[in-house]
Amino acid sequence: MKILISADMEGATGVTWPADVLPGTPQWERCRSMFTSDVDAAVRGFFDGGADEVLINEAHWTMRNLLLERLDERAEMLTGRHKDLSMVEGVQRGDVDGIAFVGYHAGAGMEGVLAHTFLANSVTGVWLNDVRASEGLLNAHVAAEYGVPVILVTGDDVACEDALGYAPEARKVAVKDHVSRYAAVCRTPSRTAADIQAAAKEAATLAVRHEPVRGGPFTVAVEFDAEHLAGAVTVVPGVTRGGERKVIYSSETMYDAIRTFKAVTTIASAAVEEQYG
Ligand SMILES: [Zn+2]
Repeated sequence: MKILISADMEGATGVTWPADVLPGTPQWERCRSMFTSDVDAAVRGFFDGGADEVLINEAHWTMRNLLLERLDERAEMLTGRHKDLSMVEGVQRGDVDGIAFVGYHAGAGMEGVLAHTFLANSVTGVWLNDVRASEGLLNAHVAAEYGVPVILVTGDDVACEDALGYAPEARKVAVKDHVSRYAAVCRTPSRTAADIQAAAKEAATLAVRHEPVRGGPFTVAVEFDAEHLAGAVTVVPGVTRGGERKVIYSSETMYDAIRTFKAVTTIASAAVEEQYG
């Protein structure tokens, strides 16, 4: 049994504001350790539950946040950018039986600690086939296309609630309770590690690969906080205006949909000007 962990940072234990997740800040240095603790707990839990292999895919910002030297030696870690499937790289290789979303968070425009979708700001909403989408929802659809179930989700209480919509069976661990976008009631790393390890052990029983889900076509709508960003991203073939601050595109597969999404957000972030957005 092989488990893939997609590890994002905004939903990690103790993390509540931008400096906690911005590489290079003293706060980030401190929070990397708690992030690593969450991921390591999931690794140990999956091995407790019978996994033979656990691959961690770093999914936050520069994708160089976890402390490899503190991870259980049975795990392997894919670190750094750039990867075909970004946050869920590895799921397409045909040997993954279950995927875990560790440190996930609510989507752009939703309530939740550090809620966003791909870009920290600028994107105010994303919809997949008219359903408001978080990173978890988008990535769950990518995984489903390769027959891989989402078996564990950790993050704040809102991220766990969000996961009920895209992975109702998955085990969920809320490591903190949302108060506002930049405030949460946090539990200590020793406590959240125990909770995550126990949940991962149970979640391992859900790691059963199924038939690939071919659910296309997928229509993706992206709303920005400024009109010129919608204009800028229409250089991506197939992406058209869907409103003053909105663009829309359709893809036959989630593989294409998520890669186009990456192109759209990369171009949008390059078009953002300091102060004026
Ligand atoms: Zn994220």
